[in-house]
Amino acid sequence: MYGSSWRGCWVKTRGAFVHAARRGLAVLLLAGAGTAVLAQPQPVEPVEVSPGVWMVQGASALGSPANRNFISNAGFVVTPAGVLVVDALGSPALAQELLAAIRRITPQPVRHVIVTHYHADHIYGLQALKAAGATITAHAAGRAYLHSDTAQLRLKASREELAPWIDDDTRLVGADRWVDGPLRIELGGVEFLVQPAGPAHTPEDLVVLLPRQGVLFAGDLVFRGRVPFVGQADSGRWIEALNRLLAHKPRLIVPGHGPASTSAEADLTLTRDYLQHLRQTMGEAARNLEPFEEAYARADWSRFEHLPLFKAANRINAYNTYLLMEQGK
Ligand SMILES: [Zn+2]
Repeated sequence: MYGSSWRGCWVKTRGAFVHAARRGLAVLLLAGAGTAVLAQPQPVEPVEVSPGVWMVQGASALGSPANRNFISNAGFVVTPAGVLVVDALGSPALAQELLAAIRRITPQPVRHVIVTHYHADHIYGLQALKAAGATITAHAAGRAYLHSDTAQLRLKASREELAPWIDDDTRLVGADRWVDGPLRIELGGVEFLVQPAGPAHTPEDLVVLLPRQGVLFAGDLVFRGRVPFVGQADSGRWIEALNRLLAHKPRLIVPGHGPASTSAEADLTLTRDYLQHLRQTMGEAARNLEPFEEAYARADWSRFEHLPLFKAANRINAYNTYLLMEQGK
């Protein structure tokens, strides 16, 4: 329930903050020593990016209690026979808000959820969508992550770092349908092609194409206007996957992060070129047995350093790539 007494109140302790945050009201932001200001969390507001095709866009930031882990996108397509959702957002509360937003747009139920990959910011909302009756489809390679210690440790850490949005009731949800090849879904006269694209960003990458509309839900294969988190990704195969997507010549890309793109080719190319640059600079260093620090300092990052999250992501991306290239991958 929304208690109006919470609105506009100044909250100082962590306990009280959690209380206020649980009520979905003001979020405390520290704006310098001793100064507290209140800001409303970013709402889940769908934008229609193509007829019947909608997206909600998360913040270009790391997950935090202030942003409710709303740092990734979700998309949905409204058809006369139901709604297909792509990705589940970063907390059950966000997914609930997404469902409420969908209900304001259409009386049709959510029939399908396609998981582009099992990263926390895209899947913590799954339980809400499953409870709403949706069939969840994901790539079979996601099962390995789901049952890994990494996934459990990540969830445990998230319960602390993202409280109260991720709590003891938040759980990892598997798919109802695990696929390991292309899948065609026809819903209300709309054709969806669900295609494996990994191992690239993750082993279980799926993309969703609407061939008639030229719309591509690309998950985290394409980052628009920001540096991707490469993590342990197989960047060589990722580059191949991007080249295959380029061949589809999509008109519109709904990426996993950042705004929708009508300059699909430029965005696919930017992500690909960034990965290629990492592999080229770090590969050369690894082959010449040049220490990472030196190679990193010497590399020319000027084409990418203006992008959001460059500072947060580039160094670790470069380091992971250095390790990958040392193994000759
Ligand atoms: Zn992501």
